[in-house]
Amino acid sequence: MSESARNSVATVVLDTGIDKPLDYQIPDELAHQISLGSRVLVPIQKRFCPGIVINLHQNSAFAKIKPVEKVITSSPLISPDLFLLGRWISAYYCAPLSKVLPLFLPPGTKNEIQTKTQHFVKPLVSLEALREETAKLRGKCPKQAEVLDYFLKNPKGILAAELLQKIGPLQSSLKTLIKKKLLDCSEIEVDRSLILEHEYFPTKPKTLTPEQKETFAKITKSLDEEKFETHLIYGVTGSGKTEIYLQAIEYCLQKQKQAILLVPEIALTSQTIEKLKGRFESRIAIMHHRLSLGERFDSWHKIAKGEIPIVVGARSAIFSPLPNLGLIIIDEEHDSSYKQNEKQPCYHARDVAVMRGKLTKSTVVLASATPSLESYQNALSKKYVLSTLKTRTNQASLPTISIVNMQSEFEKNKGFTLFSNKLLQGIKKRLEIGEQSLLFLNRRGYYSVKQCSRCSHSIDCPHCDVSLTFHLSSNTLSCHLCDYTIPSPRICPSCGALDEFTHKGVGTEQVEKTLHAIFPGVRTLRLDRDTTKQKGSHEIFFKQFRSGKADVLIGTQMIAKGLHFPSVTLVGILQIDTALHIPDFRASEIAFSHITQVAGRAGRADLLGEVIIQTSLPENTTIKQGSTQDYEQFFTEEIATRKFFAYPPFTHMVKIVCSGSNAEKAEDYLKRLRTSLIQRVPASFHIHPIVPCGHAKVKDKHRFQFLIKAEKLGNLSAIIQDLLTSFPVKKDLHLLIDVDPSSTFF
Ligand SMILES: [Zn+2]
Ligand SMILES: [Zn+2]
Ligand SMILES: [Zn+2]
Repeated sequence: MSESARNSVATVVLDTGIDKPLDYQIPDELAHQISLGSRVLVPIQKRFCPGIVINLHQNSAFAKIKPVEKVITSSPLISPDLFLLGRWISAYYCAPLSKVLPLFLPPGTKNEIQTKTQHFVKPLVSLEALREETAKLRGKCPKQAEVLDYFLKNPKGILAAELLQKIGPLQSSLKTLIKKKLLDCSEIEVDRSLILEHEYFPTKPKTLTPEQKETFAKITKSLDEEKFETHLIYGVTGSGKTEIYLQAIEYCLQKQKQAILLVPEIALTSQTIEKLKGRFESRIAIMHHRLSLGERFDSWHKIAKGEIPIVVGARSAIFSPLPNLGLIIIDEEHDSSYKQNEKQPCYHARDVAVMRGKLTKSTVVLASATPSLESYQNALSKKYVLSTLKTRTNQASLPTISIVNMQSEFEKNKGFTLFSNKLLQGIKKRLEIGEQSLLFLNRRGYYSVKQCSRCSHSIDCPHCDVSLTFHLSSNTLSCHLCDYTIPSPRICPSCGALDEFTHKGVGTEQVEKTLHAIFPGVRTLRLDRDTTKQKGSHEIFFKQFRSGKADVLIGTQMIAKGLHFPSVTLVGILQIDTALHIPDFRASEIAFSHITQVAGRAGRADLLGEVIIQTSLPENTTIKQGSTQDYEQFFTEEIATRKFFAYPPFTHMVKIVCSGSNAEKAEDYLKRLRTSLIQRVPASFHIHPIVPCGHAKVKDKHRFQFLIKAEKLGNLSAIIQDLLTSFPVKKDLHLLIDVDPSSTFF
């Protein structure tokens, strides 16, 4: 390279504080180490901050720029195609690169605690001696004793970085103990096995049915042609989608290419993981929240080097650094967990996957028994290649489904009842013949409202605008938004009445309790967020249920995510109505998908299944369509509604949410932003008024929002980014820009 052409300026996105990329001068001695994607340390104000080089030029527009201090990693951490993807995410989802690029970096990069060699700490003396020392230190140096406590319980040792994460910032105590020769600290090369210990048995490819074969052929054609193409597999539950994934991945690997499989939640898809491990064994990396930082760091590097060709994980696995990607599969593509709602960038992993496929000329496969309206519309308009699987592979027929009108049940019963007569008879029959039942209710807890019958005061969360849910087992009231928990009071805090509370709203805990009252001796398992707080508990539950340790499984939507229970022959859907009452444009889509997915758990293998839907809205169209499992009919009617009201997929929406502890300030900021926005966007843009969010207060933060609706977003993102520089968000406020929001209500 000639001296004159050398790039002497690097544009750097900093890890913290500043969203705007900054220019730095490249000192001669560092020039050969810096390239696009290098990680560098640069001065900012009076300190140094790490960042990523996103651009190199010969000159800067700024007169006086500071030099790069140091190169942290000279080989690029982000490959050119992922850089392009990052820029697209930043532009489309209206998020600064400083918030997007960390998605692509190895885990733990932000704290710089990770290097290829790490410090491993273990006891240097016998356990006996360690115990004595701990006792001695307890009084005068309690912090050192605290560190030793850890090693008394874990004498095998641990990485220093992880230890400090576990026990808190006790570096100096740790150092002292090493100096005292009670602990040993050595540098080790990190190479931990990153694959979870799932039980699995090696399996061979199965013979495909004609329908599966046809779908597989379309996918392999795309893989052969090495062109970007998106497929949508619309296949009823039990139609053998997973076997197609497995064979498509194998095919992709034979072409020396790599594959990503996204699943909604690793913990809820253990069966799919088992199948994958049975087929691919060690060629697969499972990105799991249960992996330690170090394990994730290792797997990231192995994936980046091309040593592991298959990555499986939840939405963020789409950013895995596979160098030679050929195939991306998204299982249950309709699932809401693929969208990041809570922080920027509010990306949708499905849409990111399609863009990554485009940039890398990869084949993208989306699959579901209830495709999102967006994807099915894209398939009908030939943007995606559609494959339909209508038959179940094991010849099991789809379950029979009936609707029970709960209003008439209440009349018969002269009051509220959780279970219809039909459902009770159904459960009774299953108990007698030793088959299993599954009950779905998408609300946890015992009662959702506790109200004083004297003064009508209901006990709400002091930090959020929801009422507290009563939990019988712990006799507590707790908030399902912020986890605030208090003992359940007997005295009304408003009027002082004693024991005059009434309760409303049922949850899974009450279903379980009531079932035990009706069928003494019934064996139940309850699966919801309250019972699965402990890591790994899902797998244990599923195993117990599958091995027949319970007669009835009661659960929230967790039980609807693709698991399969061979001896379930009865599914009861209690109160799907709640989902339909939410004033949101996706309410029907979500309710339909819940009914279909839950119903799909029944009647596999050789046992015919029965599904009972309990509802107070027996004439509701969505419930009726759910009961006939007629996705195409549902789609036809729902898409017409979307078109009529100009909702996605016919328009794009952007939701702008501002929250803060001071309600007035939050609303005021949003007002000013909205007013300027109206002046900047074309008249065809529909800008809705400002309203409080569905949850108007969460964790003491008041929340307001407004919606922007337009056929095409055009350069809206750039306009918003630009506006934000003239309306910087004050420290006590928080702004969230949600492009293609999954909900317009919450
Ligand atoms: Zn709860
Ligand atoms: Zn009262
Ligand atoms: Zn709360």
